[in-house]
Amino acid sequence: MSNPSHAWSERPVDEMRCPTCGARQGAWVDVCRRCKSDLRLLRAALAAYERSWRSALAALDDEQYDEAAAHARRCLELRPDAEARRLLAVCQLLRGDWTEAAELARMV
Ligand SMILES: [Zn+2]
Repeated sequence: MSNPSHAWSERPVDEMRCPTCGARQGAWVDVCRRCKSDLRLLRAALAAYERSWRSALAALDDEQYDEAAAHARRCLELRPDAEARRLLAVCQLLRGDWTEAAELARMV
């Protein structure tokens, strides 16, 4: 059986939007290039998202689907975007939780 985690990118977050002025920029800058807002907190949240993302993929590789779902849920809390919902939906499918998987799929 092919491994489901191979469909996912290693780096889900490669840009962020300044919460003050909305300017898009690379996900790894400290200060907004347009308005000079401090982006370190936002960057820390994105880094935590990325750590949870990688942990979820590693758990999927090990077929630890409960653990993968817990990491994916953390991603969704940190950044509730379509990518995180898809990841959690896949984890829930693999765990056999069809109800939550279907709910998440509807939200994408
Ligand atoms: Zn800004």
